[in-house]
Amino acid sequence: MVAKDVRDRALGAVIGAAVGDALGAHYEFCDPADIAKKGDIEMLPDGPYPRPAGQWTDDTAMSNCILEVAAKGLDLNSKEGLDAITRAFQEWRNSNPRAIGRQINAVLGTSGTDDSDELLRDSKKLPGNRKGGNGSLMRTTPVALPFLGEGEAVLAMKAAGKISDLTHYDQRAREACQMWTNAIRHAILLGTVQGLPSYLQNFAEVEEQRFWVEKFQAAESATVADYAPTNGWVVNALVCAWHAISTTSGKGEQHFRDAMVKAIRIGYDTDTVACIAGGLLGACWGADAIPEEWKVVLQGYPGWTVVDLVERVDAILEA
Ligand SMILES: [Mg+2]
Repeated sequence: MVAKDVRDRALGAVIGAAVGDALGAHYEFCDPADIAKKGDIEMLPDGPYPRPAGQWTDDTAMSNCILEVAAKGLDLNSKEGLDAITRAFQEWRNSNPRAIGRQINAVLGTSGTDDSDELLRDSKKLPGNRKGGNGSLMRTTPVALPFLGEGEAVLAMKAAGKISDLTHYDQRAREACQMWTNAIRHAILLGTVQGLPSYLQNFAEVEEQRFWVEKFQAAESATVADYAPTNGWVVNALVCAWHAISTTSGKGEQHFRDAMVKAIRIGYDTDTVACIAGGLLGACWGADAIPEEWKVVLQGYPGWTVVDLVERVDAILEA
């Protein structure tokens, strides 16, 4: 039996990420000036393509592929688990989604394989400068959920790295997913966002530490204007998400709401930055702290609402 507050925070991670994705979708590709003209940040329809208000995009669709595999009780570190994720990704791509990342589309379409070893091979083949998109970080939220037991942090990070590699064979993408997954696990267990720096202290190599410490310093400064226009790159997406979280004061619902609004006002890849930030914010403050009006309208691939997300999270926690 999982403690009530841990369950609320596990739900918060998954629902928070989906809320960020759906909230940011209307503003995708807008710069901060365009967004300022639109007034208050709200759950609005449309965006780069027609969609109802509250509908999540590819970020949550892909995250749901992982969530479903974990809910079925498959080990995310096993070949069986990774094959099931690969199949689920292909099934989603075959549903002709309105939004699909360029890199994801290229990798999944290379051979159209259902086998995780072959997908990894296709992922490695992608040209070096095209591997570091934010598309694996945006879907990493559920990876922590099956690994909440004592001493399972390493297993969670291992799975996050393997799942990232499937479509993003890139060192920074892998590190970002491992770091964020560890932070989400830490937040679910302890109710704090401080697990992010703790990864660097406890698990990172010297070069990795140096690289990311500088990025965190940038993220925690007053502005991320230099990083925002290229936040389709995994590193800058993480910088923008952490900026929104770490430079917003307050706690609970107020912090969730204000940080989410800040994440979107950064501009450009708004759904993904808000999705990444929403996962960690929800994991820290819990599902109860997520504004009701943002939760009730949520829906999207594969025909789910918030009820279906809750069902999967509970299945994982009860296993
Ligand atoms: Mg998206």
